[in-house]
Amino acid sequence: MRLVMFGAPGSGKGTQAERLSTKYNIPQISTGEIFRSLKRGEQIPGMTLSKDVVDEISNIINSGALVPDELTISVLKNRISLPDCKNGFILDGFPRTINQGEVLDKMLSEEGTKIDGVLEINVSDEAIIKRLSGRRTCPACGKTYHITDKLPTEADKEACPEHCANLIQRDDDKEEVIRKRLATYHEVTAKLKPYYEAQGKLVTANGKEKLEDTIAEVDAAMSKIEQ
Ligand SMILES: [Zn+2]
Repeated sequence: MRLVMFGAPGSGKGTQAERLSTKYNIPQISTGEIFRSLKRGEQIPGMTLSKDVVDEISNIINSGALVPDELTISVLKNRISLPDCKNGFILDGFPRTINQGEVLDKMLSEEGTKIDGVLEINVSDEAIIKRLSGRRTCPACGKTYHITDKLPTEADKEACPEHCANLIQRDDDKEEVIRKRLATYHEVTAKLKPYYEAQGKLVTANGKEKLEDTIAEVDAAMSKIEQ
């Protein structure tokens, strides 16, 4: 299963990607994460990028620029040649533009393969804002709570007395920040959804409030993907 995943921040995409990764025994690949590792000087185990390429990527990231599509694709090509991708992979955060979608298709077709499907986790902006802006975080242990349901229990406060009693709202969870990230996400899907729809590869799952309902939606959507 070679899958591209779309989902807004707060859509529950990460949880589903992790579950699908286990279910299909395929890795979840984020080019952003690979670049951050390279920047920290960590090679991805098994990857055979030359020092020149690693230095080039580090310099680009350090300058604040975006890594060019052709370079990203060559890194991705290297990553998916590893044995853990023999059953497929889940791409997360790439492609973001039609050009990236096209270079990805071209690279895969040269490798004799293709993207099987594109899964969109669809959640309304208002639901995401409600979900994320109600989130409160313990600054010390990182545990998160939601103002509409589970605030710290006595046991939580006992485990983390100084902090779980003094929750904060992280900047990332503030409404104006969430709205900006959602706008960026919609730009990506607005461009790429028609691209993959035209290929007959897009399937959509509606993210629900209850995890088991979302799982059912995702599994139903995944069953429509032809491999
Ligand atoms: Zn805590």
